[in-house]
Amino acid sequence: MESKISKEKWRKKLTKEQYRVLREKGTEHAFTGKYWNHHEKGIYKCAGCGAPLFSSEEKHDSGTGWPSFDKPYDELNVQEKPDTSYDMQRTEVLCSNCGGHLGHIFNDGPNPTSCRYCINSVSLDFQLKTKK
Ligand code: FE
Repeated sequence: MESKISKEKWRKKLTKEQYRVLREKGTEHAFTGKYWNHHEKGIYKCAGCGAPLFSSEEKHDSGTGWPSFDKPYDELNVQEKPDTSYDMQRTEVLCSNCGGHLGHIFNDGPNPTSCRYCINSVSLDFQLKTKK
């Protein structure tokens, strides 16, 4: 359970939409986020705390309207949790560092494990890979 103070801190740090998704487990509307159709090379970081969460190397076009990844940048940086809200059996993905809600895992991905990390754009901040 979070204290009131940390809730207030999050409210100050995040935009309304970031707060709704990251801290209240909301979902952005499909095809409205800034990264579902984004193809630059780089790292997607947590919009809450800056932890590196996903790489463009593992991003694929899922057609769902949300940025979709085969796997996390580092498995230690994300947490998986059973989520039975809305009468569905899903697996929630959270940032290990700040506990922010990122999205869900589905099994319709193109990689050998079929694993697809379906992530809200608003939970992410993109950092372009700098050219050498
Ligand atoms: Fe985070």
